[in-house]
Amino acid sequence: MKTGIFGGTFDPVHIGHLIMAEQAREAVGLDEVWFVPAKNPPHKKGDRTSVEHRFAMVQRAVQSHPHFRVSRAEMDREGPSYTVDTIESLTRLHPEREFSLIMGADMVLDLPHWHRIGDLLAQVGVIGLLRPGYLLEERQIPLKIRRCLTLVKEKVQVEVSSTLIRDHRRAGGSVRYLVPEPARLYMEENHLYEPR
Ligand code: ATP
Repeated sequence: MKTGIFGGTFDPVHIGHLIMAEQAREAVGLDEVWFVPAKNPPHKKGDRTSVEHRFAMVQRAVQSHPHFRVSRAEMDREGPSYTVDTIESLTRLHPEREFSLIMGADMVLDLPHWHRIGDLLAQVGVIGLLRPGYLLEERQIPLKIRRCLTLVKEKVQVEVSSTLIRDHRRAGGSVRYLVPEPARLYMEENHLYEPR
């Protein structure tokens, strides 16, 4: 079973995440994609919505897709959510699965700084996708990363981010169609990202 691990803060999940995950699944022939909300992303500072709310929104966003799941793998662990720890525990729990990581261009560029990157790349391949605003040139990427990278030059790139959604909603704007509808309804019911 080829399983793509798609980690993120998902604060909140948006159509950019779903569209890129679907293009990765199709391009690489993944059997499943597991969305893994990070409890404490090492690279992001500042206030975050609780991981339970972020998880609930992802769950609602992926529920209609037969090959998408959401995982609690990084939710019940204290300290920074390092991907290498997640992959080690997932591999122990699911030895029959072949895992790879799905990420956008901004994260591919950041990979050289990741905790125990050598150990991580010894265990998984990386599926990188383009993202508007980030120039991903293969020669910029260190060789040890390039060797493990499948670069998907996807047909549709969507210029949307969680930051844009949060800011727009806090300013009183509509995020309809930018956030999948079941997740948006959860956001409204729980008064998330409302004007302060
Ligand atoms: P924020 O604006 O809060 O930094 P974000 O929109 O970048 O959030 P994350 O949850 O941090 O969302 O991203 C998770 C993963 O999804 C990362 O690998 C990121 O590169 C990728 N990603 C997010 N938005 C897009 C997009 N529009 N196109 C391609 N990849 C994306």
